[in-house]
Amino acid sequence: MPHFYFDHNATTPVSPEVMETLVPCLAEVYGNPSSIHHFGQAAKQRLESARRQLAELLGAQPNEIVFTSGGTESDNLAILGIARNARGERKHAVTTVIEHPAVLGAFAQLEREGVEVTRVPVGGSGVVDAGDIRRALKPHTALVSVMHANNETGTVQPVAEIARIAHDGGALMHVDGVQAVGKIPVDAGTLGADLYTVSGHKLYAPKGVGALYVRKGTPLGSITFGGRHERERRPGTENIPGIVALGRAAEWMRENLTEEAARLGALRDRLECGILARVPASGVNGSVASRTPNTTNIHFDDIEGEALVIALDLRGFAVSTGAACSSGAVQPSHVLIAMGLSKERAKASIRFSLGRANDAAQVDALIEAVAASVEHLRRLSPVNTRLETVHV
Ligand SMILES: *Cc1c(COP(=O)(O)O)cnc(C)c1O
Repeated sequence: MPHFYFDHNATTPVSPEVMETLVPCLAEVYGNPSSIHHFGQAAKQRLESARRQLAELLGAQPNEIVFTSGGTESDNLAILGIARNARGERKHAVTTVIEHPAVLGAFAQLEREGVEVTRVPVGGSGVVDAGDIRRALKPHTALVSVMHANNETGTVQPVAEIARIAHDGGALMHVDGVQAVGKIPVDAGTLGADLYTVSGHKLYAPKGVGALYVRKGTPLGSITFGGRHERERRPGTENIPGIVALGRAAEWMRENLTEEAARLGALRDRLECGILARVPASGVNGSVASRTPNTTNIHFDDIEGEALVIALDLRGFAVSTGAACSSGAVQPSHVLIAMGLSKERAKASIRFSLGRANDAAQVDALIEAVAASVEHLRRLSPVNTRLETVHV
């Protein structure tokens, strides 16, 4: 049975053109870029050309790019590296309740270190109100961190406006851009963020590589200690094959983003309209006006999302609930709960995230599979069994 992948917000496959660059690089470019000999300098050259490629995608200068091990490390470096380095009495930071665990976890650590953290809520649209950020600022706020696009709903946040507000209040601005890069245009100048997180494996490069954009002059301290790599922001011998792959992925995105985003937007709308038309008591979670083109998050009342994920997997379709499995029990998504969904509806929600692997035939087949699976699960559901018993 063929399997089709509709979970590109969890991770993406390595694309053919990235493979073509990566495989020979693994075999041939093994020098340490810190070495002065031929092998080292060859690696150094590849490192710097990848830095230029990523900088170009982000509208940044190459010396504003710090390579890391991924989105989680970039988020931690930005948040801990700014807050710990903040001078004097700047012991307050602002974020939102819908951030990725990589950001939420870094802020929880800051709290343990004595920094006061304000978490701004969202409404049903899932869009952060910039006015709420303004009201959360204090005279001693060091940092504001708001994600560009949400991984579960695709909701795009007004980060440029929030960056202006943060700067007016004397704070620095970090943006987790992992789910935005490659899906919507990102320009460091227009956004005005001081720090911007990128992850390779959400962008058709391999896992274990990422980057942090650090605007020139930003007072970022290191959070790990060792050699003087990456302008003393991130010690450790560079992951050359991973970085070269990320550079190539960024180059492909710069050339193809407009076209691919339009293609995915049309496919996503086809999927969404098809499901809503075929499945009663279903609906889209969050704003449909401000979204990345590849994502839709849909609730199906009276079913368990986990059961639908499994049912669709058996039919050959990979999708996801936003839910995290902690301590054995399925927790409803913190993002959907923050948007005001009931626990039941949050648990009855599925994220469909499209990518380069998908086409219209797959989307049409997925619509049929969702309709059939939801109908089947609802027939089995104890809620419906109970209703039928009452009616008989
Ligand atoms: C995946 C993701 C991360 C973490 O990136 P990794 O490279 O997997 O560590 C951070 N933020 C968001 C929004 C993500 O989707």
